[in-house]
Amino acid sequence: MKQCAYCSEDRKLTKEHIWPSSIIKKYESKLASYNKKLDSFVYSDPVIKDVCEECNNVLLSPLDAYLSSLYDEHLHQSLNPGDSTELSFDREMLLRALLKISFNSARASAAEDIMAAHRRFAPYILRGGYSFGVQLRLLVVTSSKIIADGELQEKHFPVSQLRCADIPYDGPLSHRFIVRLIAINSFWFYLLISKKREPEDKWRKFLTGFKTWKIQPGIPLGPGVNKVEIPVNQTTYMTPQLMETMWEAIRRAQQVAQADGPASGGTAA
Ligand SMILES: [Zn+2]
Repeated sequence: MKQCAYCSEDRKLTKEHIWPSSIIKKYESKLASYNKKLDSFVYSDPVIKDVCEECNNVLLSPLDAYLSSLYDEHLHQSLNPGDSTELSFDREMLLRALLKISFNSARASAAEDIMAAHRRFAPYILRGGYSFGVQLRLLVVTSSKIIADGELQEKHFPVSQLRCADIPYDGPLSHRFIVRLIAINSFWFYLLISKKREPEDKWRKFLTGFKTWKIQPGIPLGPGVNKVEIPVNQTTYMTPQLMETMWEAIRRAQQVAQADGPASGGTAA
């Protein structure tokens, strides 16, 4: 009997997948159609063992089912330049499902302050309702053409991935806010999280800093939003080099976090 990470009760603990296993299965069959050499991402299915049976099977599993249905409708897409797309969603279910992945991943691999920032969302992830201190944003990323042997080839660098990572944001107020990325193929969701409750002026300062920082900030999916249309000129074309640079920065930040904190399996290769 140990404390459940979600309900904090002392209960018998079960295994919880960091990503919903239904999504991993769909993703793996999708990945099989790509040239794996181009997409260096290798997925493992890490689990954590600190969630009680009731939280796992009763309260959290509807979030997995929801994200899985959204995957079938929209999130399975790996978009190419020139594609437009749309996303219609139940914002609370989406936010809870993404926070769950981020919280799970943080417990498996992140530094203590990142984990602590997620802990207050546990009741919200379980049951919805009130939450504070998080902004959800979406960046739609298209694939890019590959340059091989000095020639532009009609091949696309696929935007095919499942990743949950800490973005090493070091702009204004970086000591008060964290930035998490949950990338599902072309749909990159940012979770901007304040470490504790922050007044509006601090949020404004942070958001201004984030929007002009190194990466594209995407668009906010605020309360009341349940559909976004992303026209061609608002999708983001990322060169393989830019993408690699970004993953490299994330990898380095993760290594630092793991050297400082508990290390037990990561989420990405
Ligand atoms: Zn529980």
